[in-house]
Amino acid sequence: MELVYLDYAASTPLDPEVEACMLPYLRAVGNPSAIHAAGRYLRTAIEEARTTIAQLVGADPGQIIFTSGGTEADNHALWGTVETLGATAILYNPTEHHAVLHTIEAIVRRRGLRAYPIAIDRVGRIQLEHLEALLRRYPKSIVAVMHANNEIGTLQPVSDIAALTQKYGGWYLCDTVQTIGLGWVEAPKLGADFFVASAHKFYGPRGVGFLYRRLPVGRFIHGGAQEREQRAGTENVAGIVGLALALRKAYQRRAAYVHELRTLKHYLMQRLQEVFPDVVFHGDVSEEGSHPGILNFRIPSHPLADLLVIHLDIEGVCVSGTSACASGSSHPSHVLQALGLSAQAARSALRFSWGLGTQKAHLDRAIEVLQAAATLLPA
Ligand code: PLP
Repeated sequence: MELVYLDYAASTPLDPEVEACMLPYLRAVGNPSAIHAAGRYLRTAIEEARTTIAQLVGADPGQIIFTSGGTEADNHALWGTVETLGATAILYNPTEHHAVLHTIEAIVRRRGLRAYPIAIDRVGRIQLEHLEALLRRYPKSIVAVMHANNEIGTLQPVSDIAALTQKYGGWYLCDTVQTIGLGWVEAPKLGADFFVASAHKFYGPRGVGFLYRRLPVGRFIHGGAQEREQRAGTENVAGIVGLALALRKAYQRRAAYVHELRTLKHYLMQRLQEVFPDVVFHGDVSEEGSHPGILNFRIPSHPLADLLVIHLDIEGVCVSGTSACASGSSHPSHVLQALGLSAQAARSALRFSWGLGTQKAHLDRAIEVLQAAATLLPA
């Protein structure tokens, strides 16, 4: 049975060219902090990767810190802002990834800071007037609002958020894990104080990413002097080299890639509506307002409802019911509940996400499985 993989928002396949460029660095001996030739070879590769990434996102190389991925980068930005910049409150979008939400919870618990959710509309977009009202009351706040939601794909008005936050003297963390691989992130245009990347979301390796920070925010991981004393620990050299090439390729293909993803999204929505007239899409599904490679929906009349993810899996189709980090737990999605869905409705939601290599035939196969499953039990 051919596996149909429709879970690109959780992780993408490794690009063979990226894999090939990493191999020499996996095999090379040495520590990049060592001053001898073996160490210098690795150090040079790290600094070249940093320069490549900085050029792509319109930053200075010194503003890029390599991390173990998106989660660490989010933690670094949030803890750093509290501990070294003196933020006094946190204003957050309630549909953030757990990498942000659970870190905020820890900061509230350990530091006693107050955190306030920003009101969102029916599709999960934050209400700018509410953000401004909160900023007026709590000016020196950290504002955490992601670029595209990883479960429903809704885009946020990121440049407006950056401008408002700056106006009130706050700091803006924009989680760009889902959009940097679309080539959509440029530091000057975005205007955020922090944004983050994770290589395995754009055909790079798992376990490596970076934090962009406009200004230094101090350490998060303590130890050696790596990353200009901002992030201790021997660098994942092969991962960093792979990350840089994966990002370069992402920026090179961006227009064609986004077009391809959008075409598939349009097709998937149309087919679902034809086969299941009662299908309900969650979040913003418009072309301008959503991620082109993510679709979240439920089929209220389907008799298998919350068993569909498992059924699709048995039939060789990999999709998500909620974010990868929360799946395996029986908690219904906090994102869908924040949109006003009941716990039961949220449990029957499916997230399809696609990318390079996905064809209409793969989407057809998934729909065929959903359709066949509907005849297994009477509605
Ligand atoms: N932020 C968002 C929006 C994500 O989608 C993810 C991963 O799913 C993360 C953060 C965490 O990234 P990582 O897996 O690199 O820790």
